[in-house]
Amino acid sequence: MNIHEYQAKELLKTYGVPVPNGKVAFSDAEAARAIEEIGGSKWVVKAQIHAGGRGKAGGVKVVGSRDDVRRVADQMLGSHLVTHQTGPEGQHIQRVWVEQASVIKKEYYLGFVIDRASQRVTLIASSEGGVEIEEVAKANPEKIVKEIVDPAIGLLPFQCRKVAVAIGLKGKLIQQSVKLMQGVYKCMVERDALQAEINPMAVVELHGEEHLMALDAKMNFDDNGLYRQKAVVDLRDLAEEDPKEVEASGHGLSYIALDGNIGCIVNGAGLAMATMDAIILHGGRPANFLDVGGGASPEKVTNACRIVLEDPNVKTILVNIFAGINRCDWIAQGLIQACTTLNIQAPLVVRLAGTNVEEGRKILQESRLRFITADNLDDAAAKAVATVKGS
Ligand code: ADP
Ligand code: MG
Repeated sequence: MNIHEYQAKELLKTYGVPVPNGKVAFSDAEAARAIEEIGGSKWVVKAQIHAGGRGKAGGVKVVGSRDDVRRVADQMLGSHLVTHQTGPEGQHIQRVWVEQASVIKKEYYLGFVIDRASQRVTLIASSEGGVEIEEVAKANPEKIVKEIVDPAIGLLPFQCRKVAVAIGLKGKLIQQSVKLMQGVYKCMVERDALQAEINPMAVVELHGEEHLMALDAKMNFDDNGLYRQKAVVDLRDLAEEDPKEVEASGHGLSYIALDGNIGCIVNGAGLAMATMDAIILHGGRPANFLDVGGGASPEKVTNACRIVLEDPNVKTILVNIFAGINRCDWIAQGLIQACTTLNIQAPLVVRLAGTNVEEGRKILQESRLRFITADNLDDAAAKAVATVKGS
């Protein structure tokens, strides 16, 4: 689960991470009023969407007057921001964060991720902040510093100092970086985050002195830990998520929207991936990833069909079930139920295999509905692609 920059900043602040004074606003008037509480004479209005790359796309604007705060907030709110992380249609801006503008001396990168190889939280830092870490990794891999954290003892001060020195921090800033890094790490572990990124972690000038501050913050949380993280769940912004994905998760279905026109209903994540690959191999494009999971009841299959068909691009549905825990007869009943209750007009290509496959096939046949049956995955993908090519 993702949260907004401002929510991550407010959370990190409670862990002693220095962040600029700011306030969230849902309207231009609120944004203009916010600066009285924030103080200072220059502010940054920042579009709050669950995507990075906002700065380059015009979603981060420095302004010097109350009127400008209001004008920029008005421009941003309600508009769509397209960044390289949003996709071409962009993301609808419904909130802005107004914060004090800092005088930046230098930008660094700081990130915490879970490294799959070592199975540990790993700190990543670089002197090249403000830019995408992927770009630094490509162009200047030597400028990336990594430090693996032992979960039994946590992130130790000497590790932070080592990283700080390696990225070029000096004097008092080294001690400040220890506090900042340990704050982010503690927050990440206590709140079951999978990722925390401070880009940039900046050296800013304040009252003639240099300070280290988190000017941006992105955090992502482990969905499996949410049951014990009520405060994190409260930060969820459903408006940032695909409504079909939200609905699907409510029905116990894993659904990810894609941009093709062949809707997929599959059991098992691995088979769902293979199904998408097979569609592409035959020259088609999947409209979604959908895993109905094990033991899919007829209701679940109907819900799956409905969610897949909510995507107006879907021209054909490919159902690929390899039933182990699942039962092909249930799937068949679910498909018939879906066809009749949802009045499905799109061709339905069905490949069933495994438990109760004979019963499943018989149910489909006897229904007299026009299912296109397939013997195996390859056949199913070829038939599905043929139906969209023919239409
Ligand atoms: P994104 O990563 O989505 O582009 P950031 O929050 O990192 O958004 O902002 C982009 C850039 O804007 C930063 O790299 C920094 O140079 C500048 N910036 C962000 N916040 C502030 C701030 N409070 N004061 C001054 N400059 C800022
Ligand atoms: Mg950033």
